[in-house]
Amino acid sequence: MAERIVTDGIIEQLRELAGESDVLADESMSLHTTFRVGGKAAAFVLVRDEACLRAVSEYVSSEKIPYFLAGNGSNLLVSENGYDGVILKLAGEFEEIKIEGTRITAGAAASIIRTAAVAADNGLTGLEFASGIPGSVGGAVYMNAGAYGGEIADVITEAFTPEGAIKKQDLELSYRSSVFKKNGRVITGAVFELQQGEEAAIREKMEELKSKRLEKQPLEYPSAGSTFKRPEGNFAGKLIMEAGLSGFSVGDACVSEKHCGFVINKGNATADDVYKLICLVRDKVKEHSGITLEPEVIMLGDFEKL
Ligand SMILES: Cc1cc2nc3c(=O)[nH]c(=O)nc-3n(C[C@H](O)[C@H](O)[C@H](O)COP(=O)(O)OP(=O)(O)OC[C@H]3O[C@@H](n4cnc5c(N)ncnc54)[C@H](O)[C@@H]3O)c2cc1C
Repeated sequence: MAERIVTDGIIEQLRELAGESDVLADESMSLHTTFRVGGKAAAFVLVRDEACLRAVSEYVSSEKIPYFLAGNGSNLLVSENGYDGVILKLAGEFEEIKIEGTRITAGAAASIIRTAAVAADNGLTGLEFASGIPGSVGGAVYMNAGAYGGEIADVITEAFTPEGAIKKQDLELSYRSSVFKKNGRVITGAVFELQQGEEAAIREKMEELKSKRLEKQPLEYPSAGSTFKRPEGNFAGKLIMEAGLSGFSVGDACVSEKHCGFVINKGNATADDVYKLICLVRDKVKEHSGITLEPEVIMLGDFEKL
């Protein structure tokens, strides 16, 4: 058996830096992803403040230990073989949300749904589109998350990292992408500039979007939302349906019949099932339409090239 990178000594050192109870060894990532699948992270560390983030980042970098920053795991597929490295998840002070006039400053670990709710409570409009996106602020900025005609790029003014703030014009926000996909920096928070609005109208809009989601999306099953990016001038779900793949499955991983753009976990799917299904759907859609679908879901760990 290959030697493990993350040894007991490393776990001990991480516990010194982050606190005994905030470092979990061999933690199943099925508990931390909305797909509810995935192997074990050799170390899973909750990072509750800037000092801990600095200490842990310096340690893993200096020891060349692989690490990955997880948000809410709502766009994440972790290999069945797990991840022999350190998965960091921000918590504690990174969950704070502050309001100053029409500006909201949210920590990267704050839920984007809660941030949108706080905006509504304060009569601020602009984040309604995010009210059904089950990610963190960090994950939403990283992905430039969007829905129903709105996206993070419409409201963000800057993002924070341990190396300093990055202004909107340097965030390189485009469809489901940001500069963080290139620079690998940790997002610690973001500022959203909203507009004063009518609380009742904001809530009405949020309710309307919620009903649309409930009607169109298989929210009763674990998933990572849309599995594939929207191809230019088309829709992934439509192409998948036209390729005859509605309900197509590998094990308990299944193309939702309610919304073909969603791969869902019908109960006991494994990460391997999900991955194989994603590859089969990609190949069959390519065969049928000539269009290559690109996964939107972020994959972590080793996956056999299929
Ligand atoms: C039911 C459902 C519906 C969804 N609907 C939508 C939708 O309408 N629109 C949409 O855009 N998405 C949607 N998604 C997908 C997902 O919620 C978004 O992509 C979300 O932004 C991911 O955030 P997260 O915190 O869960 O990130 P994760 O899934 O944990 O991570 C995603 C990526 O972000 C990176 N990341 C996370 N936090 C940080 C940080 N602090 N610093 C640096 N990098 C970080 C991770 O390293 C990873 O590469 C949906 C998902 C589900 C399950």
